[in-house]
Amino acid sequence: MINAELIQNNKNGEVNKNIKVLMYHRVLWEKPEEEVKWHYVTATEFENHMKWLDRFGYTTITFTDYLLYQLGDLSLPKKPIIITFDDGYHDTFENAIPIMLKYNMRGVIFVMGNRSMRRANWDDPEIENDCLLMNDDQIRMAESFGFEIGAHSMNHLDLISINDEDLGHEIMWSKFQIEQILGKPIYSFAYPYGRVDERVQMAALEAGFRFACGVYTGPAWFGENNFDIRRIAIGDEIGSLTFLLRVLTPFEYVEWSYAKIKDTTLTRDRKKPSLDNSRKNGKLVKDGLQQKPEVLVN
Ligand SMILES: [Zn+2]
Repeated sequence: MINAELIQNNKNGEVNKNIKVLMYHRVLWEKPEEEVKWHYVTATEFENHMKWLDRFGYTTITFTDYLLYQLGDLSLPKKPIIITFDDGYHDTFENAIPIMLKYNMRGVIFVMGNRSMRRANWDDPEIENDCLLMNDDQIRMAESFGFEIGAHSMNHLDLISINDEDLGHEIMWSKFQIEQILGKPIYSFAYPYGRVDERVQMAALEAGFRFACGVYTGPAWFGENNFDIRRIAIGDEIGSLTFLLRVLTPFEYVEWSYAKIKDTTLTRDRKKPSLDNSRKNGKLVKDGLQQKPEVLVN
């Protein structure tokens, strides 16, 4: 049904409602230490991504824009896209924002509610002065440039594994702290590590958020569950071609379908694949997680 609706929209040249949501972390001019490699892109590569989006006619929107659209107060551009940044790194402010402004783009930055936190110590507990986070002034300035500020919990804990009281504190208090900085309400949240279940979703809803982002867990179609919004992770391994494939093809639908098939086959056969199975097709795959579904059925 949703498929048909999407095709219909495309046929009529209306807004494609399946809005892609991209997830970035760090944007650096120089390659970082080994530890944070998985979640950075170089500023040059990031600018290439923005250029491609511009060239293909995308317009960046924020979750607040989408909320206004839902309320009937804003019409969306023909090809909307949402660009998000987790953690609120200093380099998001220094490197990513100027590049985006150059292309008249805006994004959503999920910052930490615990404002005494100066650096992302969950990334790299060892190195002092690395992984610095945006300060309050930078958060206010980013917002004044048209970027949406959302919350990323208080202390970047795995929200699934903490008790109800701590969960409430991590989510609700982060909203309050960031609203104090901005002097206005915020509407969006991103789950640390993309870790979310129904209890965590409910806590985000009860805290008053209107949107909350996971990474690999939510439905393929934007708008189906505003409290588990699937995002497309963009990291160093993604060159321009892969980036374009993820943006221009129904990448998240393929990813979602694959996860569904994997879930179904795992439920059917709860046995963890043996090392022998993992070696099928001449490939050793860690824990069988990357395996093709048919291997798991065996
Ligand atoms: Zn994070």
